[in-house]
Amino acid sequence: MLRTSFCRLKQIPRLAKYHVLAIETSCDDTTVALIDRPSPDSRPVLISHLKRSLDNTAAGGIIPLDARNFHQTNLAPLVHELLASNGVSPYTSGSSADNQKKIDIIAATRGPGMVGSLAAGYNLAKGLAVAWNVPLVGVNHMVGHLVTPRFFNTTPKYPFISLLVSGGHTMLVESKSITDHRILCSSVDIAIGDMLDKCGRELGVRGNMIGKELEAFINTGSSEGHGVPSDLKFPNPLQNKSGGRKNTLGYSFAGFITSLRVLAKKAFGTEDLASLPDPTRRELASRLQHAIFHHLRTKTVLGLKEASVPVKDVVCSGGVASNLTLRDMLETEIQSHFGDDVKFHYPEPKWCTDNALMIGWAGIELWESGYQTDLSAKPTAKWSVEDVLDIDGWIKN
Ligand code: AMP
Ligand code: ZN
Repeated sequence: MLRTSFCRLKQIPRLAKYHVLAIETSCDDTTVALIDRPSPDSRPVLISHLKRSLDNTAAGGIIPLDARNFHQTNLAPLVHELLASNGVSPYTSGSSADNQKKIDIIAATRGPGMVGSLAAGYNLAKGLAVAWNVPLVGVNHMVGHLVTPRFFNTTPKYPFISLLVSGGHTMLVESKSITDHRILCSSVDIAIGDMLDKCGRELGVRGNMIGKELEAFINTGSSEGHGVPSDLKFPNPLQNKSGGRKNTLGYSFAGFITSLRVLAKKAFGTEDLASLPDPTRRELASRLQHAIFHHLRTKTVLGLKEASVPVKDVVCSGGVASNLTLRDMLETEIQSHFGDDVKFHYPEPKWCTDNALMIGWAGIELWESGYQTDLSAKPTAKWSVEDVLDIDGWIKN
């Protein structure tokens, strides 16, 4: 829903050099960034990015109230640090002094996410927009993830396709513009990274990023004498022909942990998989990882066949995309269906996790397409990438 005038903040010339303050607080990371946009034709420059992450280890997961309190404690000091250490002062905003930076636009995550967390960031952004009389752009968090590679490179150009594979998402999306995205396939239950972490833990793999440790465990050392029966095979979910699910456009990872427990118990008579010898655990891990990635590539190809844009540029992002076995399996499969010319883009893992750079860049793309957000707009817990414009509060110039 668009408004043409209401609570509109100061207009700035769209072709001028400008600075963006970006704020991301949708989950449990408090992140802020300062970005320089010399002109719409030149590359953006990241001046600074700061991040504080809530340690959820003791709680065993994210507690929304703790996350909100974390942002409320950390965000204002972090914004202050970002501005002060980069020569931006609220009191210099609007100043014409050459050596002083001023903020010209604020981009903040409006949704989706935990509403308390979103409100902590979005309301501070609103306050600063009012105080400095600058435009506010309310950004969809998932769109931020999708457009991240375009901050660093001139490619991929629209249209392109993204496969987000992280601890929280498994989603295949086609993007025709900053406001036009369509989900081709997404998880019907949990995310791929979440399942890799659960299975890795079950197999006795420890560490900060279990999926990453699992990959290292599989690739180092031998599985000679593993003793895993050759007919021990993990299922490929949502495939059975009789149930008509072969063509289901959806990923499903939730069943892999049960399959692992049941099949290993049958083969080795124990539920304590961590106690099995290393070669056995390594072989089980390898077959399981292969099955999970095989499921991902099967449904990805199915989803790509539904694309309304050419399968030319495929962005693979999220923590799991750093897995080299996955990259190899995906590239081979996709190229075998869509040709060797398909180009793959892998953003740096650092920018695949939640960050403010992606919000700043999505804000820049929106702003340069003529969008800003009305000051009355509220943060929103649910906001599909398919409905970027289908929400109240947009002002189109
Ligand atoms: P993200 O949600 O984007 O922060 O990514 C974190 C998820 O990616 C966790 O589930 C990790 O275990 C997983 N992950 C990170 N590196 C790898 C890797 N090399 N192979 C598989 N999974 C990984
Ligand atoms: Zn995210």
